[in-house]
Amino acid sequence: MSEHSNELTAWDRDHFFHPSTHMGMHARGETPTRIIARGEGAYITDTNGRTSLDAFAGLYCVNVGYGRQKISDAIAAQAKNLAYYHAYVGHGTEASITLSNMIIDRAPKGMSRVYFGLSGSDANETNIKLIWYYNNILGRPEKKKIISRWRGYHGSGVMTGSLTGLELFHNLFDLPRAPILHTEAPYYFRRLDRSMSEEQFSQYCADKLEEMILAEGPDTIAAFIGEPILGTGGIVPPPDGYWQKIQAVLEKYDILLVADEVVTGFGRLGSMFGSDHYGIKPDLITIAKGLTSAYAPLSGSIVSHKMWQVLVEGSDKMGAIGHGWTYSAHPICAAAGIANLELVDELGLVENAGSTGAYFRAELAKAVAGHKNVGDVRGDGLMAAVEFVEDKDDREFFDSSRKIGPQVSAALLERGVIGRAMPQGDILGFAPPLCLTRAEADIVVKAAAGAIESVF
Ligand code: PLP
Repeated sequence: MSEHSNELTAWDRDHFFHPSTHMGMHARGETPTRIIARGEGAYITDTNGRTSLDAFAGLYCVNVGYGRQKISDAIAAQAKNLAYYHAYVGHGTEASITLSNMIIDRAPKGMSRVYFGLSGSDANETNIKLIWYYNNILGRPEKKKIISRWRGYHGSGVMTGSLTGLELFHNLFDLPRAPILHTEAPYYFRRLDRSMSEEQFSQYCADKLEEMILAEGPDTIAAFIGEPILGTGGIVPPPDGYWQKIQAVLEKYDILLVADEVVTGFGRLGSMFGSDHYGIKPDLITIAKGLTSAYAPLSGSIVSHKMWQVLVEGSDKMGAIGHGWTYSAHPICAAAGIANLELVDELGLVENAGSTGAYFRAELAKAVAGHKNVGDVRGDGLMAAVEFVEDKDDREFFDSSRKIGPQVSAALLERGVIGRAMPQGDILGFAPPLCLTRAEADIVVKAAAGAIESVF
């Protein structure tokens, strides 16, 4: 390690408060600091010169891969020409207006406007406020509760941390539990009644949702939020018929649907949006990550025509909407978004996510599904997960002190590949850049098989 690297490591331990990190262990030097220096395609290299194939695309966000000059040039040109102007009271920039048009062009049918933010969390905070505003305009002040799902991930803010259905993100934070409710996760592998088909399990989830709505009172339920495929909660695709059955319940009780497409938006499942992929018809869509491939922070709430018309009525009655971020529609981020979406089209990355994703998942299943401690291999597009079990027949969990996920991901890293130990359960996740080649997919599969053999 160079002298400067040592110095950086010391500064890191003393001054850098890392997200989602064991604070004590990191400060004491018991967990490694890895300082990433550069990236190219699907690979990143650290300051020790060690290169890894990043099969999680950062945090499933660097969809076009690292080192794309088209995007860095667009960022530089925008910074030079106009680094910032706000979007309040009707102001815009060529970049922000052009990007909003590109997003609506690509979005599922029925979408009208984009409200820009900087992170998936703040976009979901915007969604919650718009949902409440909408029902107030419609004269339904009681209709405010939002139903999320256990294992859903929707952010780490005060309200969005509550929406997230993973205990880790609630612990010790005193987040407001009301008006957020959590319903059954569509986690087919972990269904209690193993005799259920996927369709039957989907019906069971829809029935549970309806029970909750009736118990709370339909007039109190404003919205349901879900990721088309559960991401951080374990990369769990919806069982057959799930979204159709859920939507039928929501329509029956006039409940809005938010599709959180922070991970799935812009191609990850082999369709431009997960909503189109699974036949979801949302009232709001959350976007972030793949919008700029994380070259600059940018998110958005895409609002449907149905909601937009009511919001307009609201401002005709109440005046301007009192919701704004200084950096909403930041032109540098918007310029990154434009170049990124152009690249996604030019390189055919949506199609590649579909075809290379299918290849990758099939090869992964071939290589590891037979292992005695692999309970499930699942995914869709370029998202995949391997779930580990103590006992294959009983699907028994490992004792959590064994930290199986982190052990396997560490063994994978030793083999030159980055996967993610998902935060809840013994699950290794993959979400590589959408530019992944079949040769790179083979490298990931070989490393995964080797890592699993070495741990068990
Ligand atoms: N929604 C989903 C589905 C996510 O996966 C994430 C982050 O991983 C978020 C929201 C929150 O996004 P951010 O971390 O940008 O706040």
